[in-house]
Amino acid sequence: MSTERRKRIEQSRKVLVVAPHPDDETLGCGGLIAKLADGGASFLFVFVTDGSASHPGSKLWPRERLAACRKAEAEKALHCLGVDHAGRVFLALSDSAMPSLHSPLWEIVKKRLSALVQAFLPDLALLPWRRDPHCDHRASWHLAWAAFQNAKIFPLTLEYAIWLDESGQSEDYPGNDEAEAVVIDVSRWLSAKRAAVAAHQTQTTGLIHDDPTGFRLTPGTIARLVQPTETFWWPLHAGY
Ligand SMILES: [Zn+2]
Repeated sequence: MSTERRKRIEQSRKVLVVAPHPDDETLGCGGLIAKLADGGASFLFVFVTDGSASHPGSKLWPRERLAACRKAEAEKALHCLGVDHAGRVFLALSDSAMPSLHSPLWEIVKKRLSALVQAFLPDLALLPWRRDPHCDHRASWHLAWAAFQNAKIFPLTLEYAIWLDESGQSEDYPGNDEAEAVVIDVSRWLSAKRAAVAAHQTQTTGLIHDDPTGFRLTPGTIARLVQPTETFWWPLHAGY
């Protein structure tokens, strides 16, 4: 990556983070968030879905309870990353069932996000990778791009992949002229990132024990995503 690009990223002052689920902010870009926060950047976090679909078989944790807990976990994670005072918006869309592109609800949410972008004026946006193999991640990318287009505001954008290396097909990866990998050293903020991951207890521990089919981040996934460097995709063209 050119020095010029690195400089632009590190000098960002207003950072928009779009997380499809509470925990993606930490897993995908917790190190960079902590690093930029240390440098004095301000943040706006947008949590797109409520994260309530991870344990559909649990009787003790119906969707409302799980959604409330995941929101609290996200708050805790932001504290761990050093962004206590950052703005945050929970769009609370249905986990794994986001409104389809251009549906009436989609348009409402797009306009809301667009207004948030216009008010915050980010110079850097951290978005999920556009073809990360999870429907909410892809839909969240589309939503963010649609909001930028609606607002006519196009911040520098980095995209973070969560599931690409575990379940992506070859066509999910960026083409040579589509995006360039950006590797950022976050080693100084690794313990903050680890603490933020641990804050997402419903996703990392046996806290919810009455749903054997419930989702849990494996130690392997966590180890893959919590490293001294974070890798982002820098799109070489705006949008599609
Ligand atoms: Zn996710």
